[in-house]
Amino acid sequence: MQIQQNISLKQFNTFGIDVAARYFAAFSSTEELTELLVSITRPPTLILGGGSNILFTKNYNGWVLKNKIKGIELIKEDEHHLYVRAGAGENWHQFVSYSIQRNWAGVENLSLIPGEVGASPMQNIGAYGVELKEVFDELDAFHLKDKKVYRLTVNDCKFGYRDSIFKK
Ligand SMILES: Cc1cc2nc3c(=O)[nH]c(=O)nc-3n(C[C@H](O)[C@H](O)[C@H](O)COP(=O)(O)OP(=O)(O)OC[C@H]3O[C@@H](n4cnc5c(N)ncnc54)[C@H](O)[C@@H]3O)c2cc1C
Repeated sequence: MQIQQNISLKQFNTFGIDVAARYFAAFSSTEELTELLVSITRPPTLILGGGSNILFTKNYNGWVLKNKIKGIELIKEDEHHLYVRAGAGENWHQFVSYSIQRNWAGVENLSLIPGEVGASPMQNIGAYGVELKEVFDELDAFHLKDKKVYRLTVNDCKFGYRDSIFKK
């Protein structure tokens, strides 16, 4: 894990805006994120996914943390559902393709939405009459201030049209 200073964010946002982050680091696990937070004594802090719903207008004078938590795993199944866990740093469309290839139905209408899995609950992504909340079970969220992991169910997330508790 490497902390970089004054690095260009051009490759980290889909507009390709060439602004700089005062500090930048990537993390691949909650343990690495916890370690990083020890260094962060001066907020603000921005968690970056695929950078497809962010328009930078000036340099970011704080910490930009790139989520690289990976992994897609079938964790359980019952009569009606398959439960699949995906890391926040997985590319969303690749996750959809992975599911389609295995005949796991549910997310196919959400194909080709840019961005990463971790951003999908932020605005309850949707397309072609389907929203994430219809296929969502629960997520693990790391609280930056408490430095604790919380499990949130679909009700906890308070999903609305392109909206969730995370926006509040
Ligand atoms: C061409 C185009 C088409 C699109 N079509 C659709 C569409 O059909 N339906 C739709 O719903 N959206 C659509 N979008 C919007 C975009 O795809 C979604 O908002 C997507 O979820 C953004 O993902 P991202 O990883 O790029 O997020 P980013 O742009 O990196 O981040 C967006 C916000 O989420 C936060 N965030 C990102 N990841 C995390 C994380 N792991 N933890 C906490 N906070 C996080 C960021 O801090 C930021 O506030 C489209 C965008 C584009 C450019």
